[in-house]
Amino acid sequence: MIDVRNPATEETIAELSSATAEDADRAVAAARAAFPAWRALAPADRARLLRRLATLVEEHADELALLETRNVGKPLGDSRGEVAMVADVFHFYAGAVDKHFGETIPVAGGIDLTFREPLGVVGLITPWNFPLNIASWKLGPALACGNTVVLKPAEVTPLSSVRLGELALEAGIPEGVVNVVVGPGRIVGRRLVEHPDVAKIGFTGSTEVGRGVMAGAAATIKRVTLELGGKSANVVFADADLERAAASAPGAVFGNAGQDCCARSRILVERTAYDRFLSLLEDATGSVKVGDPEAEGTEMGPLISAEHREKVASFVDGDARFQGDAPCGPGYWFPPTLVEASNADRVAREEVFGPVAAVIPFDDEADAIRIANDTPYGLSGSVWTENGARAIRVARALESGVLSVNSNTSVRVQTPFGGFKQSGFGRELGVHALEGYSEVKNLFIAT
Ligand code: NAD
Repeated sequence: MIDVRNPATEETIAELSSATAEDADRAVAAARAAFPAWRALAPADRARLLRRLATLVEEHADELALLETRNVGKPLGDSRGEVAMVADVFHFYAGAVDKHFGETIPVAGGIDLTFREPLGVVGLITPWNFPLNIASWKLGPALACGNTVVLKPAEVTPLSSVRLGELALEAGIPEGVVNVVVGPGRIVGRRLVEHPDVAKIGFTGSTEVGRGVMAGAAATIKRVTLELGGKSANVVFADADLERAAASAPGAVFGNAGQDCCARSRILVERTAYDRFLSLLEDATGSVKVGDPEAEGTEMGPLISAEHREKVASFVDGDARFQGDAPCGPGYWFPPTLVEASNADRVAREEVFGPVAAVIPFDDEADAIRIANDTPYGLSGSVWTENGARAIRVARALESGVLSVNSNTSVRVQTPFGGFKQSGFGRELGVHALEGYSEVKNLFIAT
């Protein structure tokens, strides 16, 4: 059995029977059987079904948001925003179904065409931190391209994905097109990775598990998209609007209690502005409202589990520069924490995945770029400066997939999202995601 808990209360909220490798095989067989009819469906009809799913998500927004909050511990306001994004994702890919064109290419002796063919059955493996959002980022383009799917959510936070599977059926998406299997990664996830009838794995999770997924996929030359960990830099130059940069920084690292692959968990500050910025940052960190995720106005909830809290705490061991407040009692609470560090420290090198920010000084532009890039990861990051040329120069120099200037937002339905280096490869969201769920077929016709 899988014991699903509310991390804010430690209470069991559901018990699900744990799927086996045979259940995974059955789901793959169902997806395989559903594939020919789903790919053959008229594009406008496939679009209509995705649009209906988007509308059902909107109609069940309160229910889904509460489910996500109770299972993940994230503030209700955050969950509402995430559910709204899920609906937007399905609307976007409903619109993309009949706009993902092939090409005609000038050649000698005939006509050359390309087609975007679906891959077949795709396995979607998702993490516990943004369960519904990340499921939709994969489901939307996968279904739009005509694939059928087996979705394996993380065991600790499966509830919203199970509900989404039910809504897909209610929307009229035929049985077998979307299959949700809840079970351990090392059994069900692994089976999907190894299964000869699965054409691709869309994986989001840790770099460590992603490495195993990539190795496992090699045996069947499966396509993989890997969205992995991060250790992103928030680079603040002395000429930035320091008040705005400091007010925005806590949300960028303590949002979702720091359990965010895009967390700007290294805050790089130009030395001449360091003391002033740090004092502004302490004030902003102290005002983060940590508490009951279901209460209006809460900005940060608990961590996902007791074990995870222990891991997060191991990065601090008593030498915090500043810690905010957090409730005590039941729930896996940890306060927002600032640590002064050098980029060689463990807190600056490893993904903490908790509300701990490493604040690191730098000397000049070249030093900032060197420190920001001195990491195996390359997912997101920010540049704060009032100098437009510098903003573009630094953004171009950073080895990272998703950057923002004078802002800490990375994720939009319309724009590509994904990492450089060991943060993975492939892109989700936007029209770019369609590339990861289709093959290009070339056809020459002699004339
Ligand atoms: P995880 O790697 O432990 O698990 C991710 C998923 O993989 C889960 O569904 C898990 O059951 C499954 N899994 C575990 N072992 C497996 C195996 N051997 N074969 C196949 N599947 C297996 O990650 P997590 O702890 O759930 O999530 C946190 C991690 O995810 C962090 O590193 C975070 O940075 C990353 N993440 C990345 C992004 C991104 O878009 N880049 C987004 C969110 C989270």
